[in-house]
Amino acid sequence: MEDQLQLEQRVKELHKLLNEYGHAYYVLDKPLVPDSEYDARMRELIDLEERHPDLIMPDSPTQRVGGEVLPGFTKVVHDTPMLSLSNVFNEEDIREFDRRVRADAGDVTYVCELKIDGLAISLKYENGRFKQGATRGDGTVGEDITTNLRTIRAIPLKLSEDVTIEARGEAYMPKKSFMKLNEHREEEGLDVFANPRNAAAGSLRQLDPKIAAKRNLSVFMYGIGGEGAAYGLDAHSEALDYLDRLGFRTNPERRRCQDIDEVIAYIESWQDRRQDLSYEIDGIVIKVDSFSRQEDLGFTAKSPRWATAYKFPAEEVVTTLLDIELTV
Ligand code: NAD
Repeated sequence: MEDQLQLEQRVKELHKLLNEYGHAYYVLDKPLVPDSEYDARMRELIDLEERHPDLIMPDSPTQRVGGEVLPGFTKVVHDTPMLSLSNVFNEEDIREFDRRVRADAGDVTYVCELKIDGLAISLKYENGRFKQGATRGDGTVGEDITTNLRTIRAIPLKLSEDVTIEARGEAYMPKKSFMKLNEHREEEGLDVFANPRNAAAGSLRQLDPKIAAKRNLSVFMYGIGGEGAAYGLDAHSEALDYLDRLGFRTNPERRRCQDIDEVIAYIESWQDRRQDLSYEIDGIVIKVDSFSRQEDLGFTAKSPRWATAYKFPAEEVVTTLLDIELTV
């Protein structure tokens, strides 16, 4: 029998630790620990909360989308929340995700996509013209980074149709640009960025658009905000094809999978090949294709139940972490 007081104490410690790591990562763009360490602490907290639901606090890091709006930026309230994704780490977790999906929604087709390691963005177009771009922020309120996003050539300023739409996706820094940027920064005696994700986020969350313009960023768009039915779309795969037709850059490596075995084969096929890509990925996103099945499954406070992200085993080493006492 676990001691209730000890459990409460550990939950508090995990809140404090995850909030500290989250602040450094999401707000300062300077992670204190590798993602694998953050993920391990988050899993510990999720496990504790699953075993003891009475310990779930509304402000628990498991219940909130990480991220905050930096001072100096205009706030953008998202029309529909920009959520996070649940994570799975091994085949058993993936099969468990599939079992839950099929229990609630019957047999489904999945779409697998590369999980681009960058910064979530929302791009709003009115009558086919780019109007406003924002970060995810805390999921409800993001930062207006329109002027910075306008400097990214992969973002169309005008679409092929005069449509009013919100596209969502990931802004990222290609590996080559990241290496060059850090080389320059080292030469100039500046702090280097820990990884391309933090470099992309640090470049876009700047008030001076000249900085973003110099950083050679790109985007892959992976969804639309609001109801797909408004555009005559019934499935996620259709939405991706529609984004293509409108002139957005989408990732060509996506695949429709008829069952979870195909999903697992797709994931395995990327384990060794991810190094060959010109951009970093930290996993594979698995989404239920049909919008009506997605509706059947719904959302938690933090993420859709119709999708999950398989995270690759850690390969990064963050040396700064090693000074930090990890056992609290
Ligand atoms: P997440 O990065 O695990 O997943 C959600 C995000 O995936 C979305 O917001 C979107 O930006 C992105 N994404 C990329 N490709 C996508 C695609 N094809 N379809 C849909 N979404 C796609 O969740 P999160 O809440 O942003 O961050 C949590 C992750 O960040 C953790 O897993 C952890 O590894 C890392 N993190 C690290 C630290 C640290 O200290 N090192 C701190 C906080 C968070």
